[in-house]
Amino acid sequence: MAESGNEAFVTLATNDTYVLGSLVLAESLRRVGTQKKLVVMVTNEISETLKHNLHTVFDDVHVVDLLSSEDFKNLQLLGRPDLHVTFTKLHCWNLTQYSKCVFLDADTLVIQNVDELFDKEEFSAAPDPGWPDCFNSGVFVFKPNVDTYKSLLQFAATEGTFDGGDQGLLNRYFNDWPTKDIKTHLPFVYNVVSQAFYSYLPAFKQFKQNVKIVHFIGAVKPWQHPYNYASGVVTPLPDSGHDAEFLQHWWNIFIDSVQPTLNPAAHTDSPQCLKSEPPTEGLIGQLASLGVDNPVDRSAMDSFHRRMAWEQGQIDYMGEDRFENIQRKLDDAKMKKNNK
Ligand code: UDP
Ligand code: MN
Repeated sequence: MAESGNEAFVTLATNDTYVLGSLVLAESLRRVGTQKKLVVMVTNEISETLKHNLHTVFDDVHVVDLLSSEDFKNLQLLGRPDLHVTFTKLHCWNLTQYSKCVFLDADTLVIQNVDELFDKEEFSAAPDPGWPDCFNSGVFVFKPNVDTYKSLLQFAATEGTFDGGDQGLLNRYFNDWPTKDIKTHLPFVYNVVSQAFYSYLPAFKQFKQNVKIVHFIGAVKPWQHPYNYASGVVTPLPDSGHDAEFLQHWWNIFIDSVQPTLNPAAHTDSPQCLKSEPPTEGLIGQLASLGVDNPVDRSAMDSFHRRMAWEQGQIDYMGEDRFENIQRKLDDAKMKKNNK
């Protein structure tokens, strides 16, 4: 008979920025009084400093390979080496020291206690609003089992994934989910994806107080929104679809419990930061120094957000992104190159 001590929430972080998400997630779980273990799977890409932070919050920090070489060959055959991050999530089936687990993406936030999820069986998940006959793979109940892991990898190598991510793979693997057993369909409140906030506004207003887990899906993540340290208010980036109230909740936890534990010295120009994918480059250092050297030096953050907006096609032709500024940047870059 499975004991509660043998059950765990599991998340994943393959780089430092997702570590921030996982730290806030863990803190949100502690705040709602979970009785379950908290486990994070990480890869060697994350910095030692942040690994230390993870140890203080999680019961178990589990280092996994991004992908074993043998599997990598399969992925090369598939012509999809980029799937390695996706496949890292599959390592959760190897956590056989736990009898049952709930996987939560590092961009999720727990609002109310969800320990009752452990009464569900593998494979339980909530519908994805984009195509409700598919589940969203940011929250799911599973039973660790090495055979399932191997079978998933084999399946991935032969069948692939229809969306380039783990969701397309898992939906094909657990393909009887839409019709087999309604008990494996988690209510939507267990995985309220941010894009749904505005697509059915009356329902959102009606049921918002029932939300148990928020999932900030998409290219923009909570840690990328502009936050004003002096006022304590986050301003959602336009078009992110993120609800201001839930986003503020994320930032409140981050500022109260995570940000003070970050070490600004460790993250300035840290190579690990540079390893993070753009546009998060250098972000950890900036967040770590919020309120340290000076309370609201937002210049670095501002240029970061300017770049994000640019990448999202929001170009400030009359202001920061006007032609002279771009020309000056190009000239600077040319000069630096010539001086090398
Ligand atoms: N993830 C990660 N590193 C990455 C991308 C993703 O660790 O570079 C993990 C992280 O736990 C993340 C999950 O994989 O929450 C799924 O990715 P994401 O949440 O970005 O996808 P979305 O929910 O936006 O589809
Ligand atoms: Mn996600």
